[in-house]
Amino acid sequence: MYDIIIIGAGPAGLTAAIYACRASKKVLVLEATTYGGQIINTLDIDNYPVEPHISGFDFATKLYNQATEMGAEVVFEKAVKINDKGDFKEVITDEKTYSGKAVIIATGSINRKLGLENEEELVGKGVSYCATCDGAFYKNKTVAVVGGGNTALEDALYLADLAQKVYLIHRRDEFRGERETVKALEGRDNVEFALNSNVTKIIADKKVDAIEVTNNSGEAKTITVDGLFVAVGRIPENNEFKDLIKLDESGYALSGEDCTTDTAGIFVAGDGRAKSVRQLVTATSDGAIAATAAIKYLNGGYYANH
Ligand code: NAP
Repeated sequence: MYDIIIIGAGPAGLTAAIYACRASKKVLVLEATTYGGQIINTLDIDNYPVEPHISGFDFATKLYNQATEMGAEVVFEKAVKINDKGDFKEVITDEKTYSGKAVIIATGSINRKLGLENEEELVGKGVSYCATCDGAFYKNKTVAVVGGGNTALEDALYLADLAQKVYLIHRRDEFRGERETVKALEGRDNVEFALNSNVTKIIADKKVDAIEVTNNSGEAKTITVDGLFVAVGRIPENNEFKDLIKLDESGYALSGEDCTTDTAGIFVAGDGRAKSVRQLVTATSDGAIAATAAIKYLNGGYYANH
């Protein structure tokens, strides 16, 4: 029996593990893919206090090492269900069942897809959801970025340094992301905006050859591209746990400020939580808060968000 089972080894989950281990709790971290979560794809972290310019990979690796050196056990299995047994919870993975007195859900979010017919089969063949991971393959080539948030803007700027030409396609005439980044993009000769437009088709034989872009008046044109970078936001990964935690209309977990949920002994932390700022610093902060609440719960305090 573990004291705390943490689902997700991203910044929120691993920070929760550090706090729980420091309180001498027996901690299991379950992770479906690799440690680090979304931050592992960030090339350069400039907005986390103390260590500017650290790469996402280095940040995640240091955090992972810190958590495991403190005693957290990490198992790479996907949690698919939690059974609330009152005093303890069963966490069922695709391989086993684990028992813990408290659970912190820190599963984060996944990339939203455009939903185009051949999109998924072309991942790795011209379709990418991570400019910093795959951008180098498009040196001196032509790429398109879809989306209007900070990710799309920063991806377009990053790719503008590598690619010969970057199209930035956004469904409205106004960007959601920061004005400063838009300005920086406007200053680049090799960046072209396609506003009020959507990608309506990916034209591909063995790999992406071109995209069809349709504007809001219904006029379609074909643009020849080597790569399509999709940056249209993320979807929280809470669906498996929706019987035990309340979700908002977008699927984010509702919780108290102390990361408690409606179910005693179940806490949430990180990007999957309904909140206003989703940044690395708020993810680690959530991890600390959720672990502190879980520790209090284990030590006899009743913690549920009503
Ligand atoms: P986001 O802010 O949710 O933006 C998603 C963008 O994709 C929006 O512009 C949206 O259009 C568009 N979109 C959504 N669904 C679409 C669809 N089906 N087809 C076409 N376009 C679609 O997501 P994000 O850019 O990934 O950012 C997530 C969070 O991380 C934000 O809070 C962001 O500020 C933060 N972030 C911060 C930094 C930084 O501080 N350096 C860097 C990256 C991300 P509409 O605008 O029309 O809704």
